[in-house]
Amino acid sequence: MADLDVSEGFDLHEHRESFKLLRQGADSTHLENREDLECPACGAVFDRLFVTERETVTFSSSPEGPICLVRAPDQLLVLTH
Ligand SMILES: [Zn+2]
Repeated sequence: MADLDVSEGFDLHEHRESFKLLRQGADSTHLENREDLECPACGAVFDRLFVTERETVTFSSSPEGPICLVRAPDQLLVLTH
């Protein structure tokens, strides 16, 4: 297992092998954790990662498990467990 380091921002190209791309929009990306990467917020392995460069985001449904938020320099990351 490895830590997901986003102190310099999240770059999908750096982590391409670790994720399955679920959905990619103009300014947001939804990914599935394929390599047991650990959440930068709580340290536990996360299931999915949502990355956006927008200032605000709305989800129409909520996951059942815990949610962690991580602020990167130009991005907002939402991780679900
Ligand atoms: Zn977490």
